[in-house]
Order: sequence, then structure tokens, then C-alpha cells
Amino acid sequence: MFISELSSLLDTSFVINDTEVFITSSIGVSMFEKNAATTASLLKNADLAMYSAKEAGKNCYSVFSKENHEKIEKEKATCHALHTILNKGNKNNELYLMYQPLLNINDSNFSECEALIRWTNDDGITTMPDDFIPLAEKSNLIEKISLFVIDEACKQQSKWQRNGVKDVRIHINLSGNKIIFEKLLNHFKANIESRDLYPSLFGIELTERTLDYISDETIRQLDQLRRLGMKIAIDDFGTDYSSLSQLKKLPITTLKIDKDFISGIANDRDDQALVKTIIQMGHSLQLEIVAEGVETYEQLTFLKDHSCNTAQGYFFHHPLKSKHISHLKLVA
Ligand code: C2E
Ligand code: CA
Ligand code: CA
Repeated sequence: MFISELSSLLDTSFVINDTEVFITSSIGVSMFEKNAATTASLLKNADLAMYSAKEAGKNCYSVFSKENHEKIEKEKATCHALHTILNKGNKNNELYLMYQPLLNINDSNFSECEALIRWTNDDGITTMPDDFIPLAEKSNLIEKISLFVIDEACKQQSKWQRNGVKDVRIHINLSGNKIIFEKLLNHFKANIESRDLYPSLFGIELTERTLDYISDETIRQLDQLRRLGMKIAIDDFGTDYSSLSQLKKLPITTLKIDKDFISGIANDRDDQALVKTIIQMGHSLQLEIVAEGVETYEQLTFLKDHSCNTAQGYFFHHPLKSKHISHLKLVA
């Protein structure tokens, strides 16, 4: 009761230098004896709880709990370890990319792949990106990771070009915020140019969330890259909210349907209707449609029957090491 009163007292405007400013509060609560035995630990735990309130979307309060504390400590350790690896230049190759083929649905021809990051530590334990990318996205760590991914993908493409693996387009996942995003695109362009590669050897996958903060400058840069042959895809299409008018504004070439929808298309009528509608809508906007997470023959048949263009999934290949991609291509 007391906390909500405190919160509503702060939830008002203040006039500073003739300007009206609004503030919101994020409050952390820790209780003496129950959560802490000294003043210092009481304050420290209240501070930790405040970070949970901020994470929960701000303008609310959070009460310190041991579980929450352990979770935050674990997340901090993960971010710290990743920072250290990247600052030391990833010299033990703990971070690396795997490549999952994308196949033309009609002739099963393979000329594209998606780069997916992995983290295997010195003890051989692999952490999957879902366990660190969302964390990295909350700080500038995502910028460092994305720069690493861009460098690795460009390096790999150069190597393939030199070794006669001529036509495997690499798609990379890019996330970040408004400022980071512009930086990443500039870095990507510079890297492609300095290695004498072409934008048509690459693709970028953006999620619908990116659309919330995309700037006019980013749109201009993406448009330039698309005109030079790069593919630009909206990833996980349908899982978040994006309006059709936003889609129209963007220079995209591809819609990628999330695997959650694909997993249901053999028997779930709602998923069937959704996937059919996305394919029809995408085609009427002259977009290529990629289905992600294709695992069965039935799913593939449905997608083929409804004119989906491209498929990716365990039915064909799991993510592979780069040497297996070149082998696949050279023996084809
Ligand atoms: P995503 O971009 O939607 O990538 C597809 C995920 O589905 C990948 O998981 C892939 O391994 C998995 N997958 C592919 N085919 C199948 C299938 O048939 N069945 C099932 N069940 N799964 C399949 P992964 O590699 O664990 O990546 C998870 C997510 O992490 C990605 O989702 C992407 O959002 C993010 N991520 C991965 N690498 C990067 C990266 O380099 N940068 C950024 N920003 N995000 C990345
Ligand atoms: Ca993706
Ligand atoms: Ca997905």
C-alpha cells in the first residue's frame, strides 16, 4: 500500500527551468532481517530489486527474492564472460558460427545458408544463442557480438570464394538499437568492400521488433544494400506485431515464417490458415517466402502445395560447420 502511494506521488510532473518534465519510478524493496542482516546488504538487495523493476518495464516495484538475485548474478556472470572473450579477441574460438542451409522448395537446390552463433567454453559446454543473445540485447554487448558475427561471416565468404564455393549466400541475424544498427550496417558495408565481396553474397534477417526503432537513415542504407543485391528478410514473421504499412515502408525482399507456425501446419487448421495467408500476402507484395523449422515431409508438402519458395529445417539439415557446407556444395 505504502509503495503504491509513494509511486503515485512521484508519478506527476515537475517544472524545471520552465519546462514540464515527467518522471516514473522503479522501486526496489528489501526487508531487514528477512533479506539482509546489515545496512549495506539491505541497500544492495534493494538496488538489485530495483533492477528487476526496471527490467519488468519500469514504473513499478519489485521485492527482493533469493531466486531473482541468483538469476541476476548468473546473467551478470554470462555477460562478463562474453565481454572478456570478445575483448581478448576470441582467441580460443569459443564463439563461432554454424551455417544452416536454405533450400529452394521446388528443386531442393541449395545456394543460401543462415549463420547461427554458438558459444562453446573451454570445458566443451555449448551455450545456445537463446541463452545469451536476449541478455546481450539489453546492453552494448549485442554490438560487440554483432560485429564479431559480421566479421566472421565476411571472412568465411572470402574463404569460400577463394576455394571455389562460389554461390552460397550467407544470411546473418542483426539486432540492436537505433544507434547500434546504423553502426553495424556501416561496418558490414565496409567489410564487404574491403574484402572485394558483393552485397549479393549476403542477406540480413531483422525481427519485427527492429521495426519499432528503425530510423530513416537505416532504411536508406538497407535500400542501398538491397539495390546492390543483398536480401533483407523479416525474421520470425507473425510472432510479433508489425503493421502492413510498416512493411511497405521497408526495403525488404523476404518474409521468414517462424517455426512455431510451421510445426502446426500438418494438422492445425489455424496454423494452416495463417501460413497460407502469409504466403499469399507476401507474394502479392512480390516478396520471397521462407519457411523455417521444416521437420517433416508433410510440412514440406503443405508448403510446396501453397507455393512457398524456400525451406530451412532439420528435415534437410541441422546447422553445420563451415567445412560441411563447402563439402555439400562441392559434391553437389
Ligand atoms: P532464429 O533466427 O529464428 O533461428 C532459427 C532457429 O531455429 C535456430 O536456433 C535454428 O538452429 C533452429 N532451427 C532450425 N531448423 C529447425 C528445425 O527444423 N526445428 C527446430 N526445432 N529448430 C530449428 P538457434 O541457432 O538456437 O538460434 C536461436 C535464435 O538466436 C535465432 O532464432 C536468433 O534469433 C538468435 N541468433 C542466433 N544467432 C544469432 C546471431 O548471430 N546474432 C543475433 N542477433 N541473433 C542470433
Ligand atoms: Ca534468423
Ligand atoms: Ca524463428
